[in-house]
Amino acid sequence: MFDIDTIRKDFPILEETIYGKPLVYLDNGATTQKPKRVVEKIEQGYYTLNANIHRGVHYLSQKATEAHEEARKTAQSFLNAKSSNEIIFTRGTTEAINLIASSFSEEFMEAGDEVIVSAMEHHSNIVPWQIQAARKGISLKVIPITEKGELCMDSYKSLFSEKTKLVSVTHVSNVLGTVNPVTEIIEEAHKRGVPVLLDGAQAVPHIKVDVQALDVDFYVFSGHKIYAPTGIGILYGKEEWLEKLPPYQGGGEMIASVSFEKTVFNELPFKFEAGTPDYIGSTALAEALNYVTNIGIDNISAYEDELLRYATERLKAIEGMRIFGEAKHKSCVISFLVGNIHHYDMGMLLDRLGIAVRTGHHCAEPLMRELGIEGTVRASFALYNTKKEIDTLIEGIERVRKMF
Ligand code: PLP
Repeated sequence: MFDIDTIRKDFPILEETIYGKPLVYLDNGATTQKPKRVVEKIEQGYYTLNANIHRGVHYLSQKATEAHEEARKTAQSFLNAKSSNEIIFTRGTTEAINLIASSFSEEFMEAGDEVIVSAMEHHSNIVPWQIQAARKGISLKVIPITEKGELCMDSYKSLFSEKTKLVSVTHVSNVLGTVNPVTEIIEEAHKRGVPVLLDGAQAVPHIKVDVQALDVDFYVFSGHKIYAPTGIGILYGKEEWLEKLPPYQGGGEMIASVSFEKTVFNELPFKFEAGTPDYIGSTALAEALNYVTNIGIDNISAYEDELLRYATERLKAIEGMRIFGEAKHKSCVISFLVGNIHHYDMGMLLDRLGIAVRTGHHCAEPLMRELGIEGTVRASFALYNTKKEIDTLIEGIERVRKMF
């Protein structure tokens, strides 16, 4: 059962006061707070389990290796991947996309080839492709969005050509909250023999993701947005694709044998994990995924949908309110502007009231240009937020509005 009081007690930081006011943390799209059991897992890891993994014959090294590989299985089961070989630990979403951009374009792309992205991408799903564009002469095709902030699916279908080699789009927009029609996106791409990468950074904390049901080729996310520590994330890739891709980085762990004449790369998943991995981070990530699974992702979705509905309704009642992103399927992110109050001013004044929101372009400058604005204020919710906190946000905005 979803018991908000118990859940809030799991997150000690929610007891903090900021400038003497209770913290109202509404910047979960940027990063989430950590439950005690995740922080304790890190502490326990360093106090009782710390030894470098995979190469050690001694007890601690074997224990740490087992914990790291168990964490991989937890991530496999969380995403419902067919095999744990399909789970690669990365530093986060950004590194995972860079890995695919680099390895995929090296193996499968040549000058003139195209990658389809969308107008609502985070910079981390634009810039890695632009780096490859400069290196290999590939180009980006961009799916436009509607006024409501949904993808124009007809335009999407018309972007395919003989040269399309990959579709790389976000599952959920970090600015608009739009939940994209990923099943249709994948079906359309697969009809044309094109694989799909989904950026799940803003999706996995909020909605059930089943990579086999989606039939997605690559799926990436960051631990820190789903109650896990920073510096650890997941790249899921279908085994048949990962087998074909060259390594991203070279070094220890990713090799089977090395001589100056010839190096043989390790098998999956290690081929993509050069160097000492963050084996404490991986176990803490698994702890966070178990935490979410125990509460139930469907329970979390239902609770957060109600927060989104309530916050949207209350925000809309504020004079001069403009909400960016009114998709039919929306996750709990609300970007807005009030009258002509600058987003930084709003963010700074809300901060003085203990309310943490994000302001600016949210690493989506092309989207800001499309919307004809410089930035927004963004309130993004997590499973521990409450309607009372939304009321505090509304009162705060009203106060700022009156000051202007
Ligand atoms: N993609 C989306 C949609 C995001 O919201 C973010 C972070 O805000 C990222 C990618 C980048 O994630 P990270 O900085 O954890 O690699």
